[in-house]
Amino acid sequence: MRPILATIDTGAFRHNLSIVRSQAPQSRVMAVVKANGYGHGLLNAARGLSGAEGFAVLGVEEGLQLRKSGFRQTILMLEGVFAADELPQASRSDISIVVHHSTQIDMLERVALSKPLDVFVKMNNGMNRLGFKPELYAQAVRRLAACANVSRITLMTHFATADEAPGVNAPLAQFRRATEGLHYPVSLANSAAIFRHPETHADWIRAGIMLYGASAVAGTPASAYKLRPAMTLTSAIIAVQDIKPGESVGYGNRFTAAKNTRVGIVACGYADGYPRHAPNGTPVLVCGKPSATIGRVSMDMLFVDLTDIPEAGIGSPVELWGRHLPVDTVAEKAGTIGYELLCAVAPRVPVRVLENG
Ligand SMILES: *Cc1c(COP(=O)(O)O)cnc(C)c1O
Repeated sequence: MRPILATIDTGAFRHNLSIVRSQAPQSRVMAVVKANGYGHGLLNAARGLSGAEGFAVLGVEEGLQLRKSGFRQTILMLEGVFAADELPQASRSDISIVVHHSTQIDMLERVALSKPLDVFVKMNNGMNRLGFKPELYAQAVRRLAACANVSRITLMTHFATADEAPGVNAPLAQFRRATEGLHYPVSLANSAAIFRHPETHADWIRAGIMLYGASAVAGTPASAYKLRPAMTLTSAIIAVQDIKPGESVGYGNRFTAAKNTRVGIVACGYADGYPRHAPNGTPVLVCGKPSATIGRVSMDMLFVDLTDIPEAGIGSPVELWGRHLPVDTVAEKAGTIGYELLCAVAPRVPVRVLENG
């Protein structure tokens, strides 16, 4: 079998959840497990995070899968339903929905449900992705409050710049103004807001990336918050090439040796989710020692420089990211964020779950 492996550390989930909780002790935690649990496996993530009061997903199918697996917590569909026939499904399985658009209210008003749904009404505070504009918000909430298919209401928004300037002051003030007189629970904060803006904690926090042990804030490593990576992606060297000055490696000859160079070929490529745009010099660990990628990442393999790691050879262990090499460090070099790398881990990568890591 190819030596690539994603190891999921269940203990890291529990640890990270306790860190998140200590940041916002008054809030209930909605653990965001969309995108296959940020690439960790929906059920792996949900089991590790089963101490949370809720889970946030995208599709009704994920919600049903969580219910089938025995999870009794609040489950929230973050974009609500995409079609009216999902409403009875959500209702039967007690899945809460975001309502972000008047067409979703229309659906709720027309459908016949055996049990009313809990809804999270989303305001658009300048991100201009999903949600009601502030001036239309109270009206949407009143319409939902009058709808027989709606049970509990929670007020919600999402910040565009919780992790960077100009921060959350303006959208938060706008949210407060637009919800004056609406007495319902509130949910505002993603990971960056949880850690940087305590004034956003409210009734429900929606924690994603930091539960997986990666950072939501560029320039601040997850370790600064004592978070532990839940995923470690490893593989091994499957071939070694010794090349002379002037010789190149890989498609497009993107790396040409300036001196005698020992090149290791690693069983990991873009079809495993490793970013093809990772440049020469992207950090990798070989035998636990710092090395770097050279040449272009191919579909199933990538190249690393073994010149300064003479003990490395065929079979030597490689860590692409995780326990000893933050995914954010790799992501930054590759011009992206840890989120994207974690979510991109391909279904073909075998997963091992450590129960007591
Ligand atoms: C994905 C998502 C989150 C979680 O964001 P993180 O940055 O991963 O903590 C929270 N709220 C909404 C609406 C989301 O879509």
